[in-house]
Amino acid sequence: MTHDLAILGSGFGGSLCALIAHQLGLNVILIDNASHPRFAIGESSTPQADLMLAELADSYNLDFLRPFASYGSWVKEYPDIPCGPKRGFSYFNHQSGGGELLVAANPDLEHADTHWYRESFDAFLAGKVKQSGIELIENAKFQLETNASHTLRFLDREVQANFVIDATGGSNSLQIEHHCDLYTQSRALYAHFKGVSKWGELHPNNHHPFKSHNSALHHLIDGGWMYVLHFDNGVTSAGFVLDIEHHPLTEETPEEEWVRIMQRYPKIATQFDQSNRITSIVQTAQLQRKSVRYAGKNWAMLPSAAYFVDPLYSTGNAHTLYCIERLMKALHYGNSLSSYEALMFDEVSLIDELVSGAYGVMQDFDSFANLSMLYFAGADFSERKRRNEGIASFLNCQDKPFRETVSRWIEQARLGNAIPCLKDAIEPWNCVGLCDESKQNMYDYT
Ligand SMILES: Cc1cc2nc3c(=O)[nH]c(=O)nc-3n(C[C@H](O)[C@H](O)[C@H](O)COP(=O)(O)OP(=O)(O)OC[C@H]3O[C@@H](n4cnc5c(N)ncnc54)[C@H](O)[C@@H]3O)c2cc1C
Repeated sequence: MTHDLAILGSGFGGSLCALIAHQLGLNVILIDNASHPRFAIGESSTPQADLMLAELADSYNLDFLRPFASYGSWVKEYPDIPCGPKRGFSYFNHQSGGGELLVAANPDLEHADTHWYRESFDAFLAGKVKQSGIELIENAKFQLETNASHTLRFLDREVQANFVIDATGGSNSLQIEHHCDLYTQSRALYAHFKGVSKWGELHPNNHHPFKSHNSALHHLIDGGWMYVLHFDNGVTSAGFVLDIEHHPLTEETPEEEWVRIMQRYPKIATQFDQSNRITSIVQTAQLQRKSVRYAGKNWAMLPSAAYFVDPLYSTGNAHTLYCIERLMKALHYGNSLSSYEALMFDEVSLIDELVSGAYGVMQDFDSFANLSMLYFAGADFSERKRRNEGIASFLNCQDKPFRETVSRWIEQARLGNAIPCLKDAIEPWNCVGLCDESKQNMYDYT
């Protein structure tokens, strides 16, 4: 039997593609080399991610999906699928000079973004795949042969598919050549914990526009940063992301490296004093990778299969949802995937610019905070435009003057030059009073 579509990888991306394709009447098979529930990284959502979740739910009659688009509806409808509240982004500088930056992304907890407890969220979606009657094959090592169509061999079976989506993250299942020309160069060290103290309780501050721990909390350290994401089930996801030039990989075990970095930052270590680790520490090699092609006549990659830049700014899941929307439209209408590929190349370059620029000035908190306004302006402008006009590019990527502005300032940051207040530079896209010096880096939602 020939399937219209084979999807490799049943993370949230692969499962969502399967569910949407099924709604479009396509005959789908979904194959994973592991089984649910299982640990997965990539937890913090953004307004753009939530907007896309809601739009996909509405466009494809996936009513069960809609409550996941905000914290209030998620905890009400799905109390058994853990998540955490994300009122925005918070940054605490632990290098000399200190400094804080908090940027709200939503008005209150009800409408807040979320941290997805991926183990349960992904398992739920995979369960929906099965309930829909889509064949989900788990724990399967497959071999893929591609000619006019695709032949997949696994577990003594052979199936044909007219189209294949690679949603396997970094496995490169389609064996497409990679050439990484990204500026960002980082690696990560991460795990899940229980009993991590909440920063806003350890260090309460009436000037904060929201409780600083109800956010994607970033500790900036010498040559890198740490994220701390709390889930309501008592689990906390935490990890260091390190600039490779400052922190080359050594012979240390992951545990030794974790302890060494913590010892250097006793204030951060206090947050973990009462905690116990519940997963092993993952110590990655360089995170960045980039395929030379993202799609062809009868195949396509989701973002996380096509490339990876860095988790700063939590772009991964939102970008995946944007690309799922485009890919599913192209499959539905039989459109060429050349624009799917071209847009993604452009977006990867913008993400890389924003992130590599941020690393360039991470040692100077004022410059870091000023430069980050490019990301916040692009993300917010694009979210509002999409809400109002129904169409907008990811992170405002297709807005040429915006891109030129970003490139101009990123170049300065990469050269290590100080970044001044960018109020005038971002004025056309600044709908929310960013770069208002009277706010002293404390941005409530407007
Ligand atoms: C340290 C770190 C932190 C991150 N934090 C964030 C964040 O806060 N916010 C955000 O938006 N993004 C974040 N990301 C990015 C995020 O992980 C991705 O956007 C997201 O996981 C993509 O989901 P996916 O379903 O496409 O792929 P994945 O989640 O990678 O799922 C891939 C699936 O494919 C299966 N698979 C793998 N290999 C094979 C194979 N050979 N055959 C069959 N199946 C296979 C796996 O079992 C898995 O089920 C982070 C990434 C890293 C590395």
